[in-house]
Order: sequence, then C-alpha cells, then structure tokens
Amino acid sequence: PTAADSPLLANLNDEQRAAVTLPEGHSLILAGAGSGKTRVLTTRIAWLISTGQVSPGGVLAVTFTNKAAKEMMTRLTALLPVNVRGMWIGTFHGLCNRFLRAHWKLANLPQSFQILDTQDQLSAIKRLMKQFNVDDERFPAKQTQWFIAGAKEDGLRPGDMQARGEDDRKKIELYALYEEQCQREGVVDFGELMLRSYELLRDNDAVREHYQRRFRHILIDEFQDTNRLQYAWIKMLAGHTDALGHFTSGGNSVLAVGDDDQSIYAFRGARVGNMSDFVREFDVQHQIKLERNYRSFSNILDSANALISHNKKRLGKNLRTDQGPGEPVRVYEAPSDFAEAQWMVEEMRQLVRDDVERKEIAVLYRSNAQSRVIETALFNAGMPYRVYGGLRFFERAEIKHVLAYLRLLENADDDTSFLRVVNFPPRGIGARSIEQLQDAARSRGVPLTKAVEGLPGKAGANLGAFVAKIDVMREQTQGLSLKEIVEVVLEASGLVEHYKADREGEDRLENLEELVNAAEAFVTQEGFGRDAVALPVDELRQSAVSQGLDPNLPVLDDPLAPDADTGETLSPLAAFLTHAALESGDNQAQAGQDAVQLMTVHAAKGLEFDCVFITGMEEGLFPHENSMSDFEGLEEERRLMYVAITRARRRLYLSHSQTRLLHGQTRYNLRSRFFDELPEEALKWLTPKQSGFGHFAGSGAGGGARSSSGGFGGFSSSGYGGSGSPAPAPVPQRAAPSHGLRSGMQVFHNKFGEGTVTALEGSGDDARAQVKFNRHGIKWLALSVAKLTPVE
Ligand code: ATP
Ligand code: MG
Repeated sequence: PTAADSPLLANLNDEQRAAVTLPEGHSLILAGAGSGKTRVLTTRIAWLISTGQVSPGGVLAVTFTNKAAKEMMTRLTALLPVNVRGMWIGTFHGLCNRFLRAHWKLANLPQSFQILDTQDQLSAIKRLMKQFNVDDERFPAKQTQWFIAGAKEDGLRPGDMQARGEDDRKKIELYALYEEQCQREGVVDFGELMLRSYELLRDNDAVREHYQRRFRHILIDEFQDTNRLQYAWIKMLAGHTDALGHFTSGGNSVLAVGDDDQSIYAFRGARVGNMSDFVREFDVQHQIKLERNYRSFSNILDSANALISHNKKRLGKNLRTDQGPGEPVRVYEAPSDFAEAQWMVEEMRQLVRDDVERKEIAVLYRSNAQSRVIETALFNAGMPYRVYGGLRFFERAEIKHVLAYLRLLENADDDTSFLRVVNFPPRGIGARSIEQLQDAARSRGVPLTKAVEGLPGKAGANLGAFVAKIDVMREQTQGLSLKEIVEVVLEASGLVEHYKADREGEDRLENLEELVNAAEAFVTQEGFGRDAVALPVDELRQSAVSQGLDPNLPVLDDPLAPDADTGETLSPLAAFLTHAALESGDNQAQAGQDAVQLMTVHAAKGLEFDCVFITGMEEGLFPHENSMSDFEGLEEERRLMYVAITRARRRLYLSHSQTRLLHGQTRYNLRSRFFDELPEEALKWLTPKQSGFGHFAGSGAGGGARSSSGGFGGFSSSGYGGSGSPAPAPVPQRAAPSHGLRSGMQVFHNKFGEGTVTALEGSGDDARAQVKFNRHGIKWLALSVAKLTPVE
C-alpha cells in the first residue's frame, strides 16, 4: 500500500501522518501531553512493517514502563497480522536483560544470572561492608549504593575512577569489592544491566555491528526522561562514536518522542539535555510538533496550559483541542484528609451510578504515604481498587516489620514474626545462630522464644538479648494507648533509627509515621475498625467454605464483639493487628477486575483516564516541601502537576485539606500555590473559595506548611497572610468521655473483682478500658457492656 491509502493512516491528523510516514533518518517529535505521541510511535511501527520497510525483528522500541510496553504490543496486534511477542519492545532494563540473556557468555555472566532489586542491592552492600569491617558511620551503606549506582550511570568502572581524597578511595574500593561479590554470586543490579550491555556493544565490534544492521528502526518514547547511560546505549546501537567523541550514524533511523514539560525524573538522573544533544549529535533532519490534543476537554487542557506557562525553562509548545470546554474542573476543600477521602468515595459512587467504569477513575497523589487514608476509605466503602507502583500500605516491608514486633508483644510464640525481625534491624544474629535455634526449638518442641533459653555461646547471648528486648517493650507498653504503643515500638525496636540512617529511608520513615496515624485513626475515627471488619466477613465465609471449613464457625462473626457477660474484649492492639491482616492479603482487586486506580503522579505518566482526582493539593505536599525552596525543584513540581492534570479526559477533581495527619503530626496546610496558576473560568469551587489562602504565585517562598503536634492551640492566622481569612472548620473531635473513668482509678468488676484502670481508649459506644485486676491480671473491657464501679 502507498502512504495515502493505508488504513493505518486514516485516523491521524496531517502532522501525525507526516510523523508516522517520515523517511529514513533521525527524527524528533516534541509535543505536549495527549497530542498522540505514543499513538504515532505505535502506528509508525505498524506502518513500517506493513509497507515492508522493516521486518518485525528489525524494530527496537523503548517504552518507559512495562505497562506501556504491553499496551503497545496490544495496539500493534490490533493493527497488524503479525506475532508481536518476539519483538524488541520494552523498557531499557527489560531490553538490556534480554540482550544479556542472549549474550551471557560474551557478557561474562552465568547463564542463569539473577537480578537484584534496589532492596536486595542494599542488603548485598551491607553484607559486604560487614565482611570487610567497613565503618558504616563513616560510609553508610546507602551512600555506597548511591555512589555505585551513580558511577554506573556515568558508565564508570572502579578502574576508570580517580580518587579525590581518602573517602573517595574507600568508596571506589568498595565498588570494586561489590563488583567481585556480585560476579561471584552471579547477580546483577539494575544499573549493571544497562552498563554491561552498553560495554558489550562498545567492546565487541561483531556484536555491535550485528545489532546496528538488525535494528533499522529505533524508537524511544518519553525521551525527556532518559539518563546519560541510556542515551549512550542508544548511540551504540545507532552508530559509531570515535575517540574524539564524534558520532557517525550507522545508517539506521532513530525516532525520539518526548515532551520537555513532562520531564519528571531529574532526581533519578534523567537529562532533559539529551533532547538537544540528540538533535545536534544525530544531526536530526526532521522535527515535528504536534499541537492538537485529543485527550481532554478544553477546561482541563486550558488549566494544564496555564499552569505550565509559569515555568521559565521551556522549549515552548502550544496545545489546543477542538473538543468543547466540557465540564469545569471541580475544586474541593475538606476539613481533614479523612473527610477528603470520604468525599472522594461519595463522588466515585455517584460516578459509578452514572455508568463510569471504575478503571476509568484514577486517584493521583504526590507521595505514597498519602494513599493509606484513601485506601481505608475505599476499603470501608467496599469499592474495589488497585494501587500501582507500590504495595498496599499494610504489605510494605517496613510496615510488616513493625507489625511483627507488635505481634510479638501480643504473642511471644509467633515464630514467623520472630524470624522476620530477630535480626532486623541487624543486630549481629547470623543465619547459623538462627538455624541452631530452630533446631533446638524443633527437638524440644517449643516455640523459638522458649528455645533461646539454654542456647550456649555468643549466639545464645545475642538471641537472649533480643527476647529480653521484646519483654522490655511489652512491659514498657503496658497501659499505653494504641498510638503510644506503636510509637514506643517504632523507637525501641530500632526501626526508626535504622531507616533514619538510610539515605533512601525517607519514604519508609513517612510510612512508619503513617502507621502511627493509622493506629490513632483506628481508635478515634474507625471505632476500632468496626466498619473495616464488618465488611470482609462474607469474604471470610467464602474462603472458609473453599477451605472445607464450616462457614458458620463463630470465629467468623465480629471478632471485636465484647463478651456479652463480662464485657471482656480484644485489646486495641489485637484488634488493630486483625484489621491490618484483613486489610492486606488478597482482597486486593484482581488484575482485570474493574477497580479504581490509585497511583503516584510519577507512575501515571503516559496513562489516561476519564475521571481523575488529584488529591492533597497543599503547600508542602504538592509542591513537595523538599522541592519548594529552589527554582529547579519548583519547576519540576509544576511539570509533575502538568502531567497529573493532563491524565484526565472528561472530568478532573482537585482537592485539598485544611488539616492532614502526616508524619505523625496534624499539619495545617495552605492551599497549593498551583490553584492560583489555574484559569478561574475553568474552575468550579464545590466548597466556597476561601480568599487569602494560597497566594504564593511567583513568590517562590518556601515553607508553606506549618505543623503542630495536635490540638487547636497555636493556630493563628499569621501564616495565611491575608486579612479576615476564616479559620478552617474544626476537625471532628473526640467526644468527651462519659464514663467518668480516669487512668489510675481503683474500680470493681462483678466477675473480676478489684483492679486499677491502666488505660482508656475510644469514646461513646466504642470506649474501652484496660484494667489490671488484682486477681485476674490485665484485661480490656468494653465500657458499653462491662460494669465498672469506682472504689473509694
Ligand atoms: P502523553 O504525553 O500523555 O504520553 P501522548 O502524546 O503520548 O500523551 P497519546 O496517548 O498517544 O498521547 O494520545 C492521547 C489520546 O488521544 C489517546 O487516547 C489517543 O488514542 C488519542 N488520539 C491521538 N491522536 C488521535 C487522532 N488523530 N484522532 C483521534 N484520537 C487520537
Ligand atoms: Mg505517551
């Protein structure tokens, strides 16, 4: 078929058609969001193949995520009668992996080499540092990891590096030792996948020439987010660079597609400068701009355009749409993050009633820690959802570690939890000691914690210290509120200290603090998770049936119900642990199930949805406090916001909250400055627009968020700058206790006799007291049932 009559070209505009049918040579498509870049890239592959210009094996296409690669394959299958499964379409890492699998011998790897993820890599480095007695105060493992990853990204091996001082020398030495260890164990990290395939191409003329001849067409999506090594890798496949750095094209065609306004990975080494380097070094003959947006209605697009126009560093592009204005962008202000999530769920319910598919609804947030409160609201509402690019909150490793400690407080015999944290944070208990302990436990038929007694030597002493630590924690947390228990465990376990020492532990620390919030909310807002546990009972029944159990076992009923006679109830901690266990696990929406999509803005790149919620639009959160103080950081935040807005096709919601429990504190956040950069006529304020809130436009001032450790004292309007700004609506407060009990009070119970109140939790019908009875030990009692009378 000729260019003109190919049906592939029917649904393209003139610029898109020109891009799809570009002649041989190197080209760049620079265009804004939703202008059809990815569509052009996919269609071009189909067009090249269907017109016989290239065979499927002659195409190499790089996408940014595995999800995008899969989507591209699906679209190609629809366009072409060829089997796309063997085609080289994938992420940089995926393609490099494939390349090294094919050439493992030349790459000097074992055939079955394994890949280390970032966590595994860190453990490997720690192991190494311990083995060589490296002072981890002076050389934190995390820093070593960054050093190694950075070196690899710059294409440098230890031998290529010049030490600039004693510390540098040590780091290079560690890098070399790390390489030896990986080589010996037959493992490669992510950076190594890239670097090793780059080196193989560079050093092996036959291999390089083979692939240069083979891949006649190289196409790269999201080019603005490539790093130095990825760019160098593309150059290796596309031509020859001489000793002076001059590049000569090998006769194949490279098509780079990107949008400088969507460059959001600078913090991970992405170089927007690769675009201009590409134009210069490849002597790009064709540059095409796409200016029509097919994704969004104009209220959404106008908002995106207006926002991004506040960035100074831009290559400059226009975007317009022929679709009408569509619906206004809805703005909502909530009194609390909890209320924000509730409102969102209500809106979603309405959308679903209006026949919107759940998978066409996306919730975007700036940081992972924000997802928990949203997940809880969705879970309680029985709304299926999926979290992308991250584990569900209670499944995250750091959360599971804390939960393991908490479980040990409740049950010292929980061997799984014991093993999970016996050497985490690391405390010098080696695999051999643990084996020895397991043997002893097995032969004596006792749980691990019991088997520790009588274990000889250093192993015995170390393990004994761990058991003693747990005992002390259990003692320390008597009488504390659930929130306080979690706080004590976070510190006493050493987890906080551990992640603080971690340069990349910030996210994990945030999640740990989020767990404190979860504990607090569990007691005050969720009434000990009554809603949350009420829901999955049916599911539990079903799973009981599938396991051949009696579905009517009483255990399946409300596990939180107090004993009708005495009022005895689960401890808040045990109830919380139940809640955590139920919320994790496989009630997560199945792949393919129609579910609401939750993800960070970073993870949403390239995707589109009918309805999008962008949540937590607050100073300090979005823009993020770490990026607010400098120009570059703020511009990257704005690009991130541009990406977020442009994901929406029909309906866009922006929400912010006056207060937010974050990092274990109630924060009073200002409305994001980004609201002031949006066109007023495109917005609809669902809640009254408060004047004088975020009016930071152009000031570049940092530090918009203020914190207070709870309560409403200290709330002044000074941070808000404007006069007459109304105080935020108060957050629902705990109802005052009506039971009249106080900690330390002597009480009498009909069955358990006299005792002392050691702790109180919850309010109203959910109020509970922990009482230390003189004869019956410590018990938790539901005050709506238990009769406790004060003793004078
Ligand atoms: P992003 O920058 O977000 O990655 P993009 O430039 O890659 O966006 P695409 O995802 O390719 O844009 O296209 C956006 C939407 O517009 C898609 O749903 C696509 O199918 C549709 N689209 C693109 N071009 C056309 C066209 N000519 N006619 C109709 N729909 C189109
Ligand atoms: Mg795209």
